Amino acid sequence: MKMSAPWRAVLSEAQNLIWPPLCPVSHQPVRAHGELAAEAWSRLRFVADPLCRTCGLPFDYPFGGADVTGRFCASCIARPPYYDRARAPLVYDEVSRDLVLPLKHADRRESVERFARWMWMSIGRQVQDGALILPVPLHWKRLMKRRYNQAGLLARAMARQAGLGFEPDLLLRRKATPSQAGQGARSRKRNVSGAFELTGKLEGQDILLVDDVLTTGATVNACASLLKRSGSGRVDVVTLCRVVRETDLTI
Ligand SMILES: [Zn+2]
Repeated sequence: MKMSAPWRAVLSEAQNLIWPPLCPVSHQPVRAHGELAAEAWSRLRFVADPLCRTCGLPFDYPFGGADVTGRFCASCIARPPYYDRARAPLVYDEVSRDLVLPLKHADRRESVERFARWMWMSIGRQVQDGALILPVPLHWKRLMKRRYNQAGLLARAMARQAGLGFEPDLLLRRKATPSQAGQGARSRKRNVSGAFELTGKLEGQDILLVDDVLTTGATVNACASLLKRSGSGRVDVVTLCRVVRETDLTI
C-alpha cells in the first residue's frame, strides 16, 4: 500500500510519541529513529588504513601485524581465504555492538539504510559493475524465529542504493549450525563446513557477499569456497563490523 506524504508524516509523529527516538549507542534523545547523538559519533571506531588488502584487518591493532610487504596480514599469507577481498566500515567493539545487536534481535530497521551506505563506501569502489549482492543466509528455522535476516536487510538496502542485483535465495543454509558465540576459529570453521548450498548457476558471475559482523571469517569463507567451486567470478565480502582482536570473539 502506497501512503501519501502527509499520512506518512502523521504516522511518523505518532510513532515518535509512542517510541521516542533514542540514539542506539548513547540512549540520548535524537530527532529521528536511526540517528546517532553527536557523542556516539565520536565513540565509534571506523576501520582505517593501513589494512590487509585481502581481509581488511587494520594493522594498528594488537594482532594486526603485516607481512614484510606491508600489504597482507600474517593469517592471509599462511591461509589465503577463498574470497578475494573483505571490508567493513566499523571496528567491532562495545560501541558498535550496541548498533549490531538491536539489528540482530529486535525490529530496529531504521538504521539499515545508513549502515548500508557506510558498508558500500568501504568496498563499493572495488566492486565490479554487474556484481550480484547475496546475503549470508540463515537456516530457515532461525529465520522463522527471528522473522528476518539482518544480513538480508543490509544486502537489499545496499543493492538498491548501488543499483546492483539482489538474490536472497541463491545461497541457502542447509545445516542448522549452532550459535557461534564464544567459539574459536577452529570450531567455527568445523560448524560451517558443508553448511551452504546453491540453488542456481553462476557462470562467471561476480558476487558481493554481505553479513553483519566478520569474526574469524569462517562463515563467509565457507560461502566463498562454495561460490568459487561453483564457477563464480570474484567474491568480495562486506560486513558492517569486523573483529580486530581475538578477545572479541564472544559474539
Ligand atoms: Zn588479512
